[in-house]
Amino acid sequence: MRNPIDDEGRELDARYSVEAAPGGFDLIVESRGGAIRGPQVRNRDYAPALTLHLVRLGALGASLHEVQVVSGPALKRPEEERRLSLRGLRLPARLSEGGDVQALRAEIGRASAAFGQAEGVKGGNATKRILLRLTWPGAAGMSAQEIEDLLARPIRPPAREPEAPTADPREFSERVARAANRLRGAPEAPPVGRREVPRVERVVSSFLRDPEVVAWASRVAAGRCELCGAPAPFLRDDGEPYLEIHHLRPLSEGGPDTIDNVLACCPTCHRRLHHGADRESLRRGALKAVPRLRDHPLAL
Ligand SMILES: [Zn+2]
Ligand SMILES: [Zn+2]
Repeated sequence: MRNPIDDEGRELDARYSVEAAPGGFDLIVESRGGAIRGPQVRNRDYAPALTLHLVRLGALGASLHEVQVVSGPALKRPEEERRLSLRGLRLPARLSEGGDVQALRAEIGRASAAFGQAEGVKGGNATKRILLRLTWPGAAGMSAQEIEDLLARPIRPPAREPEAPTADPREFSERVARAANRLRGAPEAPPVGRREVPRVERVVSSFLRDPEVVAWASRVAAGRCELCGAPAPFLRDDGEPYLEIHHLRPLSEGGPDTIDNVLACCPTCHRRLHHGADRESLRRGALKAVPRLRDHPLAL
């Protein structure tokens, strides 16, 4: 249980918690209570905090399925009798950033006040302990605690122009880098991703590689990375140590597929040779450390 921080950085006095639920989560808002005024009142910011939650749930793109009263007396009733009937709202409803949050908050208040009251009786408590049942695909990868923490702070809606999926590996890593750069700015609702992943046909040209060169380099390495000396991290099905073959001068840069251009290395060194900030000095180090290697010139 915790209090939310509003968009100006102030902590509101309004406890809430999150519990896991199928396909999403339950948001439980504690009741406002005690004296109307004075220091005894608890959760005095009930109303602005509920508005804040609805705005943030909208930024996440969550859908509201139902609102239940979960006060002590209400919890003695069966679940279907705890549900609020909200006027003018067809549930489930996708909460959106631009939606009329004040009207929804007011309607939840009206329905809470009417809850348990005889027909036509005015008044009633509009700030009861309530539970909002929500679905949200992002919940799949998060704990209840993480969602609770996410809701505590301002949430930027997902980027208006997110990086689009692509099957092209080079384009893909450029888009990952741009998205990562954007995410460094401020917390953002996690991306929803895709459950159904489309397949595309691509025309790719590939090099005809020589299996003998790979087998030979692996044999010479004798189960150890030729760069860092570490043993292969695991064995393959056939009992052979797992090492990867790297072309010091890539085939795409005109490097030959010969034993003086290939290095058998562990997966970490291999990735580092491709992506490490220190890849050029690693490459030079490999040329020095392994006598059979030659520095083949760039030829495009
Ligand atoms: Zn290594
Ligand atoms: Zn490589």
